[in-house]
Amino acid sequence: MATITHPVRRPQVRQTDCFIGGQWQPAQSGQTFATLDPATEEVIAEVAEGDAADVELAVRAAREALERSDWSRLDARDRGRLMYRLADLIEEEIDELAALESWDNGKPIRDARHVDLPLVVDCLRYYAGYADKIHGQTIPVRGNYFSYTRREPVGVVGQIIPWNFPMLMVAWKWGPALAAGCTIVMKPAEQTPLTCLRMARLAQKAGIPDGVINVVPGYGPTAGAAVVRHPGIDKVAFTGEHTTAQIIMREAATSLKRLTFELGGKSPNIVFADADLDQAVRGAHFGLYFNQGQCCCAGSRVFVEEAIHDEFVERIAAENQRRRLGDPLSAETEQGPQVDRAQFDKIMKYIDLGKQEGAVCVSGGKRFGDRGYFVEPTLFDGVTDEMRIAQDEIFGPVMSVLTFRDLDELVPRANKTIYGLAAAVWTRDIGKAHRLAREIKAGTVWVNCYDVFDAAAPFGGFKMSGMGRELGEEGLRPYLETKTVTVALDA
Ligand code: ADP
Repeated sequence: MATITHPVRRPQVRQTDCFIGGQWQPAQSGQTFATLDPATEEVIAEVAEGDAADVELAVRAAREALERSDWSRLDARDRGRLMYRLADLIEEEIDELAALESWDNGKPIRDARHVDLPLVVDCLRYYAGYADKIHGQTIPVRGNYFSYTRREPVGVVGQIIPWNFPMLMVAWKWGPALAAGCTIVMKPAEQTPLTCLRMARLAQKAGIPDGVINVVPGYGPTAGAAVVRHPGIDKVAFTGEHTTAQIIMREAATSLKRLTFELGGKSPNIVFADADLDQAVRGAHFGLYFNQGQCCCAGSRVFVEEAIHDEFVERIAAENQRRRLGDPLSAETEQGPQVDRAQFDKIMKYIDLGKQEGAVCVSGGKRFGDRGYFVEPTLFDGVTDEMRIAQDEIFGPVMSVLTFRDLDELVPRANKTIYGLAAAVWTRDIGKAHRLAREIKAGTVWVNCYDVFDAAAPFGGFKMSGMGRELGEEGLRPYLETKTVTVALDA
């Protein structure tokens, strides 16, 4: 593993306060928290630590904006135009935003700049196009009545997001909410608040009316929980761990808030002996190690057909040797640090556990360097279905290889997890590919590819990987209420 360091310039941090009703303001408590550079463990900035008092103000601002004519009476096409303008402004600042994302999160600048940011812009444009294409139906009811449906914004939405794709999660959440005409109280992850705050600034610059988007940085059990509890919030969209979603579901029961969840995974990535092996090795490697393994859909259980097992393992290990770890802001870097100390410790614990459970650590398994939260790309072979490393979401650069003999044996094993977010199949046999696509319980199945995302394609989980879908037309639905209007024609 080579290290290269010739970093791009660190951007200026401009926004660190809460953004409420179009105003930048410190937390009501006056408290702040530090957001760290995970590559150096140094403080980047102190950020307002919002809590229930700030959420209260944000909900008031969002509710007021929901009723105000500059939003509720705005022509749908003009709402779309503001969203296009926001996408344009992000594109204008794409280099700086990518650098800020890379710095705060630790992801390589090449990924932030060429993967995350283009997807952010595309998602906002995709939903901007939806703003004036949301319409109801006329319903052929019995009798002399005219009946039709209207699709109205669900209201004020609380959006709680994680740190692995900070800006992209903002786009996935704001896109459908704004297109539907909702107003927003967002709680970014405490590890990565900076780009969300910068996007709020750009939203204001784009002309999105004050109060439509409010951002309250802070911690989950305080600011996040206040969003979930607040009676003035109609819907919560949450992305994070299933254990947090369980807490949110219990809390939201009191007010029966609408809920959508995008949660974890332990996705099977299945490689048949008849696959194009070059492609499969590259795809499996990318499918797990991309973003330091911090993807909810990471292909962390790699099922390899017996006949190609040895060659496959050898080739993944060789790829790991070649991988360039280092300063995320260096253009050459392929793998940066994990996002924080807690994630680093959790991953190292799982690596130890894998060894104790009897899996064979073929490559990696150690910390990289002595500063920052870097973990070597790690490969475990000889993993069996029951091992904790095959069942728990590790959320790090740790691949588990499991061997299989045939398709019938494989299917129940691939489905033997509490999760069902994604899966992939590598084969040249089209029948086998479609059969697996039908039988695997997952919200997304990739065939001969991995992590192919598109704003138009719904994404979400079966089982404990989620509730509802994001992206595509399906992603818009949770932000809308259907109202039926029936008019007597002979009254
Ligand atoms: P992760 O391990 O990826 O940080 P979490 O589910 O803990 O996953 O966090 C995802 C988001 O949920 C973060 O913004 C976090 O602050 C927030 N969060 C954590 N706990 C709660 C909670 N009890 N209520 C509401 N939000 C929470």
